[in-house]
Amino acid sequence: MASFHVSAPPTAEEAVRELASGAPGEVAVLAGGTDLLLDLDEGRARPARLVSLRNLPWRTVVWDGAELVVGSTLPLRALETVAGLGERHPALFEAVRAVGGVALRHRATLGGNLGRSAPASDLLPVLLALDAEVDLVGPGGARSLPVDRFLRASRETALGRGELIRAVRLPEPRPSAYLWQRVRPANDISQLSVAAAYSPSDRRWRVALGGVPPRPVLVPEASTPLDGPAPSPAAVAAGARRIAEHPALVSDRRASDEYRRGLVGVLYTRCVRAAARRAGAAA
Ligand SMILES: Cc1cc2nc3c(=O)[nH]c(=O)nc-3n(C[C@H](O)[C@H](O)[C@H](O)COP(=O)(O)OP(=O)(O)OC[C@H]3O[C@@H](n4cnc5c(N)ncnc54)[C@H](O)[C@@H]3O)c2cc1C
Repeated sequence: MASFHVSAPPTAEEAVRELASGAPGEVAVLAGGTDLLLDLDEGRARPARLVSLRNLPWRTVVWDGAELVVGSTLPLRALETVAGLGERHPALFEAVRAVGGVALRHRATLGGNLGRSAPASDLLPVLLALDAEVDLVGPGGARSLPVDRFLRASRETALGRGELIRAVRLPEPRPSAYLWQRVRPANDISQLSVAAAYSPSDRRWRVALGGVPPRPVLVPEASTPLDGPAPSPAAVAAGARRIAEHPALVSDRRASDEYRRGLVGVLYTRCVRAAARRAGAAA
């Protein structure tokens, strides 16, 4: 591994200034390091400087009324153990617990998962289905983006030069579910995943597909057939047929298109049914 200088500024302003002062590729942001340190080790990134976020006051999680606000540097293990998360955001709870093992989750962060924007991320499909907003801070000040606009492609986001993810906001508790498929459940990443959530405020479903290149996506055509919090078997079957036609279900090194197309309807059906059961329980 090449040598590099690490700083850990105490304020967001200083972190942004340090980050913006380098040429592209010269300075990198370090959160939990579970992705970045592998990149450094394998030579995929060669920054001369790392700006660690460990001293910033962003390891927070609060319920602000109905809204859940998660600081970007909060370790996933701390998020997983937040009181009420499993009841109010079951899909997020399920997705967090799908990420690696407990030791990894003591380091890995939500901000790092967004910053990496990996196609196989377990958290991104859920953030899409829950209409998460991403709060950013950078040289031009603060701004917020819906997660669907924040994500662009594999390892590509809307982050500008010198910009940092400060927090993620989930607007309201939603009956929801997340299901994934892997070759070896304990130590692989997802080949395919589905998140489904029902919004009591606008009475609409959101369904997102994960594990597919180039990034997790919302699938509105698989949401529209779902009629209310307890969709009929015919509506779920119609949604399952539609999601199987999605153009993101292609072959890559993790799975073939045939496998993904054969499986997606099963994951979708189970996921929607689980979320609908929870919607019934929440009514
Ligand atoms: C063994 C192993 C198993 C894994 N299993 C899974 C899995 O099952 N599911 C899954 O989804 N992921 C998995 N991962 C991936 C990884 O753990 C997650 O992506 C994690 O959430 C990254 O968070 P981090 O804090 O470690 O990020 P880091 O490695 O510190 O950073 C990742 C990227 O995001 C950028 N970044 C970090 N924080 C910010 C910020 N606040 N603002 C702007 N940019 C930022 C960094 O510069 C870097 O480019 C696994 C990784 C390993 C090593």
